[in-house]
Amino acid sequence: MYLGLKLFRMTKDINELSEPFGTEMNLTIPDFCLVILIGASSSGKSTFAKRHFKQTQIVSSDRCRAWISDDENDQSVSDGAFELMRQLVDLRLRARRLTVVDATNLLPSHREPFLKIARSNNAFVYAIVLDPGADTCLTRYQQRDDRNFPEKVLAEQLRQLSAGMSRLDGEGFREVFRLESQREIEQVILTTIPMRSDKRSQFGPFDIIGDVHGCADELLELLQTLGYQVELTGKGENRKAITIPPEGRRALFVGDLVDRGPNSPDVLRIVMDMINAGHAMTVPGNHDIKLLRWFNGRNVKLTHGLDLTIEQLGRESKSFNKRVHDFLDGLVSHLWLEGGRLAIAHAGIKTHMLGRSSRSVRVFCFYGETSGETDEFGLPIRYNWAAEYEGDTTVIYGHTPIPEPEWLNNTLCIDTGCVFGGKLTALRWPERELVSVPARKMYVKPIRPMAHPPPRPGIKLNRPDRNDDD
Ligand code: GDP
Ligand code: MG
Repeated sequence: MYLGLKLFRMTKDINELSEPFGTEMNLTIPDFCLVILIGASSSGKSTFAKRHFKQTQIVSSDRCRAWISDDENDQSVSDGAFELMRQLVDLRLRARRLTVVDATNLLPSHREPFLKIARSNNAFVYAIVLDPGADTCLTRYQQRDDRNFPEKVLAEQLRQLSAGMSRLDGEGFREVFRLESQREIEQVILTTIPMRSDKRSQFGPFDIIGDVHGCADELLELLQTLGYQVELTGKGENRKAITIPPEGRRALFVGDLVDRGPNSPDVLRIVMDMINAGHAMTVPGNHDIKLLRWFNGRNVKLTHGLDLTIEQLGRESKSFNKRVHDFLDGLVSHLWLEGGRLAIAHAGIKTHMLGRSSRSVRVFCFYGETSGETDEFGLPIRYNWAAEYEGDTTVIYGHTPIPEPEWLNNTLCIDTGCVFGGKLTALRWPERELVSVPARKMYVKPIRPMAHPPPRPGIKLNRPDRNDDD
């Protein structure tokens, strides 16, 4: 039965030999994620794990069996071993540690619990399938003296492998890497890179700027007040912003660059040109994301000022519009900076979301904590997430227009409602100094009064919320 397979593999091996040498298999994964190895017994999972990962990163079913019963092969303790694995994986992901599951993981029901644990920890999951060929697994298995299960178990595993791998794509993996020969397995060069939100290696000083909403004049004035020289010149295709920042400083934007205000294109131009020159970074706000969804042809309502932005962008060139689309498309939900001391996110962020990524992280960063209901103004009811924040990372955010920024639990909202006739505010970091310029006019009437939203029912602020006293 295996002879035919073996001949087939041999032919394949000869063909592989004729491939040019040096074709490396480059696999890139974030330095925080869950890796699930998939392969039959003797496919080389443990060897691969040992070659590419630290011993403490590997959660192995064999080792967990041995911890429980002193015997890697003791199948009678498998339930306990998998319970222990799930526990270890959960604890490691909670601690934001790269973790590798070394088990056969051949059935969806084996993988699902790990994918679920990763989801609850906002961690990406990568699958690495090791398939050196059935004959290789069988030959190695026969040579091993540390395995005592019948050969038919291996045959069943190989069948599960060939039957199940096409279904992997719908299971929620960020990426599935398939290593389909011994050669590919051996040629792997594995690289880990930081998550895109993980900018802990980036240090200030920063000038963190609140929701601009198309208020280009106020943005120019605020930047100048902060010591940036900005020159906005040219017409049409040639219009661009040249910025000289104060020595060593960079601007950080908390998002909502567009909508409602008189000149979203120039705001985008200033911010994009500053970013290109290395003078700024930004996170997207819910309005920026809605504009991106509109660009992508999604069914979005042209309300809350998006209609105005589209009209303004309609007067810009096609290439500018494409540039805006690509810029918005490349933004990441939040930025975690300065060795972890500082974070910016449009609507806020919770500690266990920092440097992580998932739908729930994005939703929180863009919209904050909402109750799912709408208020008497027809707007989503928001809660003040900051009332419950206990983190060591200082979080600077926008989203909710308020008359005056006010520190709460190591967080600060700096959206002072410029487009509603308030002011545009920046926080100088690390000086913690606020700098504002007044709005030139009330571009739109606020839909609801500018104030901090209340905390979730049952949650008390640790000090009186002054807005309640006003
Ligand atoms: P696992 O059961 O999938 O974890 O497989 P192991 O990593 O324990 O490997 C099973 C056997 O195959 C061991 O005897 C390894 O030495 C051998 N092996 C594993 N990977 C390689 C490899 O890349 N090249 C070679 N030549 N042998 C390997
Ligand atoms: Mg193994």
